[in-house]
Amino acid sequence: MNRQILRPVALIVTLLALCASPAARTVDRRAQYLDAFVDVDDGSGEWTIGNAAVTYTVAIRPNRSLETRGLAIAGTSDPITGGTAPDTVLTVAGATVRLGAPASGFVVESVQASTGSHFVSLAIRLHGVDHGLAVTRHYVVYPGAGAVEMWTSIATLDHETRAVQNLNAYDIGVPAGAIDVVTGLQTPQQDGGAFTRVTRSLQVGERMTIGSATLSSGEFMPYLSIGNGHHRVYGGLLWSGGWSTTLVRDGESLRVTTGLPGMSAWARPGAAVEGPHAFIGATWDRPGADIEAVTRFVHAGRAGREFPALTTFNTWFVHGINIDERTAQRDIDMASAIGVELFQLDAGWYPRRRPRDVFDFTDGLGTWEADTERFPSGLAALADYAHERGMKFGLWVEPARVSLDTVGRPGLADAAFLALQDGHYQPGVENDAARDAQICLADPRARAWVTDRLIAPLEQVRPDNLKWDFNRWVHCTRVDHQHPVNGGNYEHTRALYEILGAVRERFPALTIENCSGGGHRIDFALARLTDTAWMDDRSAPSAHVRRNLNGLLALFPAKYLFSYVMAGGDESIEAAEDIPLLVRSRMPGVVGLATDLRQLGERQRNELHQQIELAKQLRAVQVDATTYALTSQRPGPGEWDVIQQVMSGSGVSIIFAFANGAANPIVVPLRGIRADVIYELRSADRVTVGRLHGADLIAHGLLIAPAPETAAQVLVLEPVGGAATH
Ligand SMILES: [Zn+2]
Repeated sequence: MNRQILRPVALIVTLLALCASPAARTVDRRAQYLDAFVDVDDGSGEWTIGNAAVTYTVAIRPNRSLETRGLAIAGTSDPITGGTAPDTVLTVAGATVRLGAPASGFVVESVQASTGSHFVSLAIRLHGVDHGLAVTRHYVVYPGAGAVEMWTSIATLDHETRAVQNLNAYDIGVPAGAIDVVTGLQTPQQDGGAFTRVTRSLQVGERMTIGSATLSSGEFMPYLSIGNGHHRVYGGLLWSGGWSTTLVRDGESLRVTTGLPGMSAWARPGAAVEGPHAFIGATWDRPGADIEAVTRFVHAGRAGREFPALTTFNTWFVHGINIDERTAQRDIDMASAIGVELFQLDAGWYPRRRPRDVFDFTDGLGTWEADTERFPSGLAALADYAHERGMKFGLWVEPARVSLDTVGRPGLADAAFLALQDGHYQPGVENDAARDAQICLADPRARAWVTDRLIAPLEQVRPDNLKWDFNRWVHCTRVDHQHPVNGGNYEHTRALYEILGAVRERFPALTIENCSGGGHRIDFALARLTDTAWMDDRSAPSAHVRRNLNGLLALFPAKYLFSYVMAGGDESIEAAEDIPLLVRSRMPGVVGLATDLRQLGERQRNELHQQIELAKQLRAVQVDATTYALTSQRPGPGEWDVIQQVMSGSGVSIIFAFANGAANPIVVPLRGIRADVIYELRSADRVTVGRLHGADLIAHGLLIAPAPETAAQVLVLEPVGGAATH
C-alpha cells in the first residue's frame, strides 16, 4: 500500500560483503532522514534501522541466512524482543516457512537502504529459487516515532502465477506482560460494547487471538500494547480488511503473530503481492508512553499532512434522502451563521425510483448523477453557494456498492463487477430479494469504472471534502475474478488503497472522511489515507461519544475522530439546558452537527455558535497533541470523565472534565507536567483560575470540582515560567 507515499528519492544499493572479516568492524551510515537512519556493520553483517527512540537490527549470516537481533530502546544494547529466528513466515506450496531461516529455501540476495521523502527504509531481498519466488522484507522508520513499520512483498521469478497463503506482517517474541486491546465496533453491549479497553494476561501455554473476520475494526481494533512494568511493546496493523493477531505465552515471552490467515493471494508476472504493513515499537513502561508513541507514528506516516478537523454540518440525520437545493441552501445559511466550516451533503443526492423510506439511500445508488429535479442548478452551483458563504463543501459517495437496478444500464456497473459470496450478492439473502451489491474492486475493469465514476464528480463539482461510505461487505468468492476464491478480501482491500491513492494524487487538497460507522474500518492504514473518521453511527448521547473517544484515543490522534452533536438516547438539543456539555463531549476530536437548525431557538443557536468558536480556537493547539484519557471508560452517569491533551512542543495542556452527574470533586494525575515549571490554569468559562507549581501537580494531581454553569469544563494549563522562585 501507499506506494505514492513510500517513494524513495534516493537509493543506495549494497551488495553483500559475504566474505568480510569479523575483525574489520566498521559501522557505515547508509541512509538518514532527521533522526531516522540505517546503519550497517560490515564486520558482523548487522543492519540496524532506527531513530532516537528505537532501533531494529537484523543480521545477514555468511551462509546468506537471516537472523533477527531485535527491537531495542535507543541507547540500550539489549533487545526487548527475544530469539534470533527471522521475524516472519509465509505459507508457500502448502508449507509454512520462516523466511530466511536455514533450510527455508529462501536466501538473502541483496540489501537496500534508502532515504525517502519522510522516512528511511531497509529492504532485504531473498531468493527462493525452488519456490520460483523472490520475497522482500521491508522495514521503514519515520523520524521521531518510536516504531518500525514492516511488511513482505512477494514476486514471481518467472512467467508463472504462484499462490501464497497467510500473509504475515511479523512473528516476534516480546516480554510477557499485561496485554491491552480494544474491542471493535460490532462488539455487543453484553460484551462491553464498541471500542472497550480490555486488559488480559496469559498463563504459560495459554493462547489468545484477536482479529476481525471481514473488516479491520469489526470485532477488535488492529492494535495491542503489552507492558511488564519495565518495558512496553505496542503495535498494530495498517490494514482495512480481515486480520488476525495471535499471542501465545511461552515462559516469560509472548509470541505475537499478526497478519492475514486463512487466505490466498496470487503473485503474478509484473504484479507482486504486497502483504499487510504492521508496526511494532517499544518504550519504557510509564503511563501513556505507548499512546504518545503511537500518536507520533500516525502523524509521521502522514508526511506532514495535518488532520483538518473542520467543524461540520451534515444533512443525513436531519433530512435523510429528502434533501434538495433549497433545503441545502437554507442549511448552509444557518450553519454558516453559527460558524460551522464545512457543509457535508450526505447520501441521497442522486435520482431515486422507489425508496422504502426517508433513510433508504440504496435506491438509486450507482447512477453517479445528481437528481436534476431536486438540484436544478447542479451540485457545482451548490458548492459555489457554500463557498460564497465562507463554508467548504463536502460530497458523499459510496463507491463500492450499487443498487442492482442500475446494473447493466449504459455506462453503469456491469454484472461482471459484482462481488458474490458463494453465489450470493448478500450472504443469507436470495439474489432475487437482494436490492444492492458490492463491487469487487479486485476486478480490473470494475476498479477502472469506479475510479472514473469517482473522479468525474470530483472534477465537475470540485468539493473540498469527500465522505467515503461503505455499507456492504462480502468475501468475494467468484472464480471468474482475478483473485483466488479465498483472496477476494485481500485484493479488494489492496484495490481500495490504490483508488484512494489515485484520488489523493489527483486532488491533493481534497480531504477525505472515512465513514467508519457503516464501514467498520477505522485503522492505521486509513488514518494515513483519509483525514477524518466518523467513529460510530451512534453519535449520541454524549456519554456514548465520550466512551468511544476514551477507547480510540489509545490508537489515533483525537483530531482524526469525528462525531456529531445530535439528539439521541435521552438527549435532545432543543430542550438541552447544557449545550456546552453536548459540544464539548465531541471537542477533543472533530465536532460535527446534525440537527435541524430551524427547530432551535435563539439561545440554543447562540450557545452552539459560542461552542463552535471555542472548538475552532482550541484546534490550533490541539493539532499535534497527544490525548490521554485520565479516567476509565464509564458505564453510566455519576462519575467523572476527564481527558487531557498535551502539546509536546509548548507544554500547554487542554483538560476536558465532564462531571457526568458526579456530585464530588475529583483528583486526576496529569501527563506531561514538568516539576520545575509554573502553570497558569484557565477555564474556558471563568478566565484565570490560578497558578500551580508543576511539582505540586505531579505530587498531588489536579483537583477539579463540579462547576455550576456546565457539566463540561474546558481547562487550559499553560507554562508561564520556571518555579525556581518558589
Ligand atoms: Zn471478486
